[in-house]
Amino acid sequence: MSKERVGFIGLGIMGLPMAGHVLKAGFPLTLYNRTRSKAAELVEAGARAADSPAAAAAAADVIITMVTDSADVEAVIAGPGGVLEGIRPGSTVVDMSTISPETERRLDGLLRARGCALVDAPVSGGDIGARNATLAIMAGGEAESLERVRPVLQVLGKSITHCGPVGSGQVAKLCNQILVSVNLLAVSEAILFARRNGLDPRVMIKAIEGGAAGSWQLTNLGPKILDRDYAPGFMIDLIQKDLRLVLQAAFSTGAPLPATSLVHQLYLSAQAHGDGREGTPALAKVLERAAAPS
Ligand code: NAP
Repeated sequence: MSKERVGFIGLGIMGLPMAGHVLKAGFPLTLYNRTRSKAAELVEAGARAADSPAAAAAAADVIITMVTDSADVEAVIAGPGGVLEGIRPGSTVVDMSTISPETERRLDGLLRARGCALVDAPVSGGDIGARNATLAIMAGGEAESLERVRPVLQVLGKSITHCGPVGSGQVAKLCNQILVSVNLLAVSEAILFARRNGLDPRVMIKAIEGGAAGSWQLTNLGPKILDRDYAPGFMIDLIQKDLRLVLQAAFSTGAPLPATSLVHQLYLSAQAHGDGREGTPALAKVLERAAAPS
C-alpha cells in the first residue's frame, strides 16, 4: 500500500525534528513554516515547501500541525490561507501542539463540515523526545481516525494512547503538566530544606530517588537545580502557557487546583524577574529569593 502524503505545519524546536522523522520514514512530505528559512534543511533532504498552510493541506492526506498556542492553531487551520481553504474531503488533521481542549472541539466541528477529521495528539518528552522519536503521544478523536494516522505517529513516539473523543488528548497533556509542575515545586522545596538543614542535597537525592518519593523530576531536574543549569529544556514562558490552559479549563469546569495555582503564581514571580526564557528548574530561584539569606 502506498504511504499517506503528509503535510507538516510548524517547524520549531519540536516540529523540525519530528518532520525529519516523517521524511526519513518515506512519507511524501510537504512543509509549511511561517519563517520560510527553517524548512530549507528538509527541502534539501527531499521534502517540498508550500507557500501557505492551505497549499500544504492541498498536497496531503494527513496534515500535522505543531505550533504554539490555541490562537496559532486557529490561525493555521481556520485563518486566511489556512488548512480549511485547501484541505480535500477525507483528509485527517493531527494537531500535536499543546492547546485548549475546547479549541480542538471547535476546530473538529469546522473540519467535519468539510468531510474531514481531527485528532488532537499532544506530546510529552520534550525536545530530546522529538529528536530521538521517543515522544509519549496522547490522542483524542474517533478510533478509526487515530488508526489511519497511527503509521505516521509511530515514527514520532514510543507510546500512543487513545484517550477518548476529540479534546481528550489535550486533557491528558494538561494532567501531565499539573503533575510535572507540582512535583517540581516539591523537588525545589526539598533541595532548599536540605541545604538549610545541613544535608548535602546531592546526598538527599541519592538517598531518596529509589524510594517512594522518587520521580523523573527529582532525578533529572534536581541535579540541574544544584548545578544552577537553567538552560531550556522547557521554558518557563511555555509552562506558563500550559498552566494558563489548565487553570482556564479548571475554572470553567469547577475543579479547584490549589497547588497548580500556586506554582503558576511562583512562575509569575520568575517571569517578573526576567527568567521567562529559562528552563523550568529556575523555579528553585523563586524560593531562594523568598528565603532568608544563607
Ligand atoms: P517553537 O520552537 O516556539 O515553535 C513554534 C512553531 O510554531 C514555529 O514553527 C512557529 O513559526 C510556529 N508558529 C507559531 N505561531 C504561529 C502562527 N500564528 N502562524 C504560523 N506559525 C506559527 O515551539 P516548540 O517548542 O516547537 O513547541 C510547539 C508546541 O509543542 C507548543 O504547543 C508546545 O507547548 C508543545 N510542546 C513543546 C515541548 C518542548 O519541550 N519544547 C514539549 C512538549 C510539547 P516561526 O518559525 O515562524 O516562529
